[in-house]
Amino acid sequence: MTTHPAFAVEPWSVRETHLDLDALAQTESVFALANGHIGLRANLDEGEPFGLPGTYLNSFYELRPLPYAEAGFGYPESGQTVVNVTNGKIIRLLVDDEPLDVRYGRLLAHERELDLRAGVLRRRAEWRSPAGASVRVSSTRLVSFVQRAAAAILYEVEPLDGPLRLVVQSELVANEGGLPAQEDPRAAAVLEAPLHSESFFDRGARVVLVHSCKRSKLLMAAGMDHVVEGPESTESAAESGPDVGRVTVATELAPGERLRVVKFVAYGWSSQRSEPAVRDQVVAALTQARHTGWEGLLSGQRAYLDDFWDGADVELEGDTELQQAVRFGLFHTLQAGARAEQRAIAAKGLTGPGYDGHTFWDTERFVLPVLTYTAPQAAADALRWRHSTLDLARERARQLGLEGAAFPWRTIRGQECSGYWPAGTAAFHIGADIADAVARYQAATADDEFECEAGLELLVETARLWRSLGHHDAEGRFRIDGVTGPDEYSAIADNNVYTNLLAQQNLREAANAVARHPRHAAELGADLEEAAGWRDAAEDMTIPWDELLGVHPQSENFTSHQVWDFARTEPEQYPLLLHFPYFDLYRKQVVKQADLVLALHWRGDAFSDEEKARDFDYYERLTVRDSSLSACTQAVIAAETGHLDLAYDYFGEAALMDLHDLERNTRDGVHIASLAGAWIAAVAGFGGMRDHDGKLSFAPRLPPRLERLSFRILFRGRRLKVDVTRPEATYAVVDGPPLEIAHYGETIEISANEAVTRPIPPTVARPAPEQPPGRAPTRRGSDGATQAHSA
Ligand code: BGC
Repeated sequence: MTTHPAFAVEPWSVRETHLDLDALAQTESVFALANGHIGLRANLDEGEPFGLPGTYLNSFYELRPLPYAEAGFGYPESGQTVVNVTNGKIIRLLVDDEPLDVRYGRLLAHERELDLRAGVLRRRAEWRSPAGASVRVSSTRLVSFVQRAAAAILYEVEPLDGPLRLVVQSELVANEGGLPAQEDPRAAAVLEAPLHSESFFDRGARVVLVHSCKRSKLLMAAGMDHVVEGPESTESAAESGPDVGRVTVATELAPGERLRVVKFVAYGWSSQRSEPAVRDQVVAALTQARHTGWEGLLSGQRAYLDDFWDGADVELEGDTELQQAVRFGLFHTLQAGARAEQRAIAAKGLTGPGYDGHTFWDTERFVLPVLTYTAPQAAADALRWRHSTLDLARERARQLGLEGAAFPWRTIRGQECSGYWPAGTAAFHIGADIADAVARYQAATADDEFECEAGLELLVETARLWRSLGHHDAEGRFRIDGVTGPDEYSAIADNNVYTNLLAQQNLREAANAVARHPRHAAELGADLEEAAGWRDAAEDMTIPWDELLGVHPQSENFTSHQVWDFARTEPEQYPLLLHFPYFDLYRKQVVKQADLVLALHWRGDAFSDEEKARDFDYYERLTVRDSSLSACTQAVIAAETGHLDLAYDYFGEAALMDLHDLERNTRDGVHIASLAGAWIAAVAGFGGMRDHDGKLSFAPRLPPRLERLSFRILFRGRRLKVDVTRPEATYAVVDGPPLEIAHYGETIEISANEAVTRPIPPTVARPAPEQPPGRAPTRRGSDGATQAHSA
């Protein structure tokens, strides 16, 4: 494991106490700020050196051709790639004529801190120029959760010893270079200068640049404005050109004096509005931000986050590092979706260009369950985005000869962008993942408006897809053949258990929604007769079972395949996808990421306790975790089946994915699903929370490392608090009406006046499962405990 020793362990912030240029790209992702609309990588204020320069606007993309050596019918022809838009972060500094650049002169001190409560990134640098002039630079950056189109930077400079001549150049730069081409298929396609200048202007301390994307034709504007405070002699001037805007401030500072620059930055983009409209939107956003002022933006940010943490915080006693990591994960999950407002939530959020900025099933499977219980509006918005792409998904289904809607495996705008269909289009489970997220959101919020406007149609169209993709065989079983499940080391298999169980639930939820809303359903051409067909398919769903082994095969015949030769696989050959042909991976029993085990979690109601224990044990031996979307699920099921140390190890892996750069690609952006997965591991794993059929149940079990776990969630207009210690769990409604929940199967009513405490039953001890050689998670559960995972 690569650790990053420079991050100090603190419960509410992530602090780097010296600058490590080798880890610059990783830290730019870790310290990235976003609000779901705008994303700023944590590039240094002065722009250089950088790991990867990055500024993103949600769903602002360029098109690129998808070339095929051998094309086939239905292959998508065009891809979408996130664009590094106009950089508004740059503030260059000249100290007595020397540009501040940490590679020259002497960096006397350098500290950065991501403050998870204030929602800001602070930086403090002390630098001595090659000529011996010393300065302290302090900057604080925020991307506003309150004013969606605005970001701001407070930049302050003071001399450390003698008087100084200073020039500050605050810039907007479009078409930044510097993105090295990469071989890793998970990195982004490199676009050369994708932005075309449409217009630019400067006035006072304000500059606006408007650009369009050459092929997608999307329009964007970036603007900046400044409030400068310095000694009387301070002067400033603005200039603008097609790809650069600059406000230059010149001053002299005596010791004890300070130059203070507040930079307001605003962004807007559109696929439909005109150039003047987009430009004016940015001018308005700048005016608004300036009117609110730096202090106002700061206090708004704090208030927004106070409210968020009040309903979402997870507290761990006994492990400060994971306490920090869980909050870090929740913070990035919020940043990815908070103000996305009917745009997608990408696999990397807005923190880097990895996976071309695409959205996958990650969002509905891992991110939305977290947002549903912590920031439900953001979950609704993400689902409304899916809804807005329904026409494209219906078109795609028709192209594939299917009914209903076939959602894309990867996309920015809604069109399928996966050129590799066995691990793309064939992963039809994405439809059921979306339906599952819809049903969960609906049950947790009772948001009828959402259901009538978006939820119902999503359920109906995904159910229609399953009905046409599957068929009844001669024995009357409903089969779904030739699809790819979550595990991407198997493809085009029959009756994948995860897919079939989720499809089954999708068909039932759709039928229930039609029964609830017959009038709205009629507008979609759906009625009780069609719904009865869905119920039949659900009832008859094939769920393969291996009688001999007493486990569920992930898909039909999976357990008869040859087991991967783990003993002859070298540690450097992971991830296997970079070292072995898919042809070979597909024929063998080797699992990239939780698949059957994922079904044990989200369709846990379909398995007995004994089945869960046996299945988990079987798949542990085959799962290599070559995807970051696995550890959290393994944590949940390890906890449920009583392997609490192992669960804790997986929890650690999910939570530390980016702080420790475990996949060595945090440089391309943080792994939002894994970070959301840290919450899932804590709340569903050790909190034992499940929400089958929309009812909340808990079966908490504390791992040996923790003294206490406490979490808050939002449910139907209430804030709930669950407090777990080793012997007992206490449930309370913090505000809102009473609620029925279940604790280990016992129904209890909780209310604001009365917290209810119940004892935690002992865990059943079972032999520890084994992982493929070298693929066990890093031990963290209890000191040196490698064998005994029972409680
Ligand atoms: C995983 C997919 C995931 C994608 C984006 C891949 O490595 O196997 O399940 O959707 O990454 O995060």
